[in-house]
Amino acid sequence: MQKYEYDVVVVGKGNAALCAALSAREHGASVGMLEAASEEESGGNSRFAGGVMRFAYASVEDLRRVTDISDEEAAGSDFGTNTREDYLDTLYRLTSYRTDPELSELLVNSSLDTMAWLRSKGARFILNHGRQSGMVGGKRVYFGNMPIEVNGGGAGLVQYLDAAAKKAGIEVHYETRAQSLLYDGERVSGVRAQHAGKTAEFRAKSVVLACGGFEANPEWRTRYLGPGWELAKVRGTRFNVGDGLRMALDIGAAPCGNWSGCHATGWDRYAPEFGDVNVGDQFQKHSYIFGLLINAEGERFVDEGADFHSFTYAKYGGEVLKQPGQFAWQVFDSKVTKLLRSEYRIKFVTKESANTLEALAPKLEGVNAQQFLKTVREFNAAVRQDIPFDHTIKDGKCTVGLSPSKSNWAQPLDTPPFDAYATTCGITFTFGGLRIDKETGQVLDVHFHPIPGLYTAGEMVGGLFYFNYPSGTGLVSGAVFGRLAGASAAKAAKN
Ligand SMILES: Cc1cc2nc3c(=O)[nH]c(=O)nc-3n(C[C@H](O)[C@H](O)[C@H](O)COP(=O)(O)OP(=O)(O)OC[C@H]3O[C@@H](n4cnc5c(N)ncnc54)[C@H](O)[C@@H]3O)c2cc1C
Repeated sequence: MQKYEYDVVVVGKGNAALCAALSAREHGASVGMLEAASEEESGGNSRFAGGVMRFAYASVEDLRRVTDISDEEAAGSDFGTNTREDYLDTLYRLTSYRTDPELSELLVNSSLDTMAWLRSKGARFILNHGRQSGMVGGKRVYFGNMPIEVNGGGAGLVQYLDAAAKKAGIEVHYETRAQSLLYDGERVSGVRAQHAGKTAEFRAKSVVLACGGFEANPEWRTRYLGPGWELAKVRGTRFNVGDGLRMALDIGAAPCGNWSGCHATGWDRYAPEFGDVNVGDQFQKHSYIFGLLINAEGERFVDEGADFHSFTYAKYGGEVLKQPGQFAWQVFDSKVTKLLRSEYRIKFVTKESANTLEALAPKLEGVNAQQFLKTVREFNAAVRQDIPFDHTIKDGKCTVGLSPSKSNWAQPLDTPPFDAYATTCGITFTFGGLRIDKETGQVLDVHFHPIPGLYTAGEMVGGLFYFNYPSGTGLVSGAVFGRLAGASAAKAAKN
C-alpha cells in the first residue's frame, strides 16, 4: 500500500480546501491535498461559481482593501454599504432566524479581513458592473450590497489559489478519493483513500475535510431532501457525493443544520445532468423578477418580485421542482429584454418567442395554453399602473387581488415580441453539515466534544443556512472557515 505523511491532510480542492491548505502552510505545516477529480475536473463547485462575493463593508475604504478603486470611479459610483449589522440581518431574515448566531457572526465579522487575505494570496477582485449595477442620475449604482466579484469567476478564484498553493509547496494528489478516516477511537490520524484502484494511506496529525455536501448524490438527495429531489439537475461538480459527511458521521461526528434543505435555482430545463465548466453558471435564469413564472397548468406559483433575485433565487429552484413535470417557463415581454442577464443570451438555451401571446402559448411545451392566456390576462389587469417601474430598487410596483401576488417590478405583458425560457430545478449545494467548534473549526462529536485531529470547512459546515441563502455567501464562508480550520489544524499539528 502507498503511504504518505504530512502534518495536515486536506480533503478536497475547491475554495474551502485551498484556503485551508494555504492557511495551514502559512502556519508552518506540511500539507497534502486529496482531490477525487482529475486535475482537469478539479476545483469542485467553486470552479462553477459566478464569483460574486458578499462581505461586510461600510465605506469605499473598506472596498479598497479588496480591490483598487480610483478616486474618479469612487466619485462616479454609489456602492451602497453592507454593514455587519445589515449582513447579519440578511442572514437571519433569509434563514427564518435559524442561522447559528456564533457561526454567522464569525462569518460576517471575518468576511472583510478574509477578502483582504485572499487578495494577499494573489486573488484579484473587480467591480461587479455586469450583474448588480445600473446607471441612475449619471451615477453607477450598485444594488444588492455586493459590488465586488472575483476576476474570472469561481474558476478564476480556484486558479489564483491553485497558483498560490503550488508556490507554497503544497502537494496535490489527484484522482484520489478519500474513503475513511484513520481513527483509533481517540483521535484522527489520517485518511484512507482510493487511487487508481488501489488503497493509499495518508497519515497526518490533523485532517481538514472540505469535500462538499451531497448534492451530486441522487440517493442521498432523495433520502434527506425528500422524494423528487433525485430529479434535480446538478449545477456544479459530480464529485460531491457526501463522502466527507459520511466519513465523519461514521466516527461519531455530530450532524448539524438543515439536512432537508439545500440551495437550488431555476436552471435550463435541458441542461446536462451535471455542470459543464465551459458554461459555468450560465444555465441559471435569474431575471425572473421581471417576468412571470408559469407551470404546466398555465398558472403562476410564486411571487416573482418578492425581493431582489439574490434573496429568492436559492429557494425558488425547490419551488420549480414541486411543480408538475418539475418545470416552469419564464415569460417576458420586450420592455424588459435589455434588463435580462447575460445568461439569457447563451448559445445553449431553451427559448421560444412569438409576436403575440396567442402565438406563444402553444409553443410552451407541456403548458395548458388556454390557462396560460387567462393567467396573463388576469395578471395584466391586476398590475398597479400608478407606481413607476424602477429595477434598481424594490419599486413596490405590485399587483392587486392576485394570488400569488407580485410585490415588485410588476408590469403588464403587453409589448411584443414575447420571449419564454424553459427552466427546471438545478441544485447547487446541500445545507446539512457537521457541528464545529466556532473558535477552531474542529469537528464536534454527538456529545459536543471536539474530535482530536478533525476539522472541516466549506459546504460541510452545518448550521449557517436554513431554507434560503443570500447570493455570494458560499465562497466567502468557504474562505472564512477554510482559513480558520487550516490555521487550527496546523497549530494542533505542532503541539
Ligand atoms: C453554478 C454555481 C454558481 C455559484 N455561484 C456562486 C457565486 O457566484 N458566489 C458564491 O459565493 N457561491 C457561488 N456558488 C456556491 C459555491 O460555489 C460553493 O458554496 C462553494 O464553492 C463551496 O466550496 P467548497 O470548497 O466547500 O466545495 P467545492 O468547491 O465543491 O469543493 C469540494 C471538493 O471536494 C472534492 N471531493 C469530493 N469528495 C471527495 C473525496 N471523497 N475525496 C477527495 N476529494 C473529494 C471535490 O472534487 C471538490 O474538489 C455557486 C455554485 C454553483 C454550482
